[in-house]
Amino acid sequence: MAKVILTAGHAVVNGIGTGAKVPGFDEAIEAVILRNAIATRLIERGVNVYVDQNDTTNAETWSKIKEIAHFEDVLLDLHFNAASPQATGTEVFYKTSRFLQPQPTAAKLSASVADALRIKDRGAKNESQSQHNRLGVLHLNPERSFLLETCFITNPGDVREYRYYFSDVVHNVTEFLAEESTRKA
Ligand SMILES: [Zn+2]
Repeated sequence: MAKVILTAGHAVVNGIGTGAKVPGFDEAIEAVILRNAIATRLIERGVNVYVDQNDTTNAETWSKIKEIAHFEDVLLDLHFNAASPQATGTEVFYKTSRFLQPQPTAAKLSASVADALRIKDRGAKNESQSQHNRLGVLHLNPERSFLLETCFITNPGDVREYRYYFSDVVHNVTEFLAEESTRKA
């Protein structure tokens, strides 16, 4: 069974997140809460899960993942998006692979989270479509590597749905990862 590497994007240093922030929503802190809820459910289901530490830098987290993760494992990095108040929806970035077809898998995850939140599904995107052009977390050992932008924290509607449907998001992401962990890369 493949291991699940579940990480909360951005460090939390002295209780303050280093990701996006709006009043009432700190991306890094919320990602830790979401990560822990999903990890708990996965462990209950007997899935082998590794979670990152909250206060480490990306470089530290990534070197740790390189030590413990393998090609066949599944990695998911949890984020929240920030843009204009009108921007809405869920999207998933995936690692480009010479061996696998990650696009449909990423599309499935994006649809299942958008579905849980009753918001727009922005779909699967490769990293060249990201703001950063290259996403370091998608270049570690697991060939199936995904970055979830759960919803837009700058959109009060997205945040309201996220608060309301949090347990549905946890459920759907847990289902996705549990299924992936039993599939062979
Ligand atoms: Zn982020």
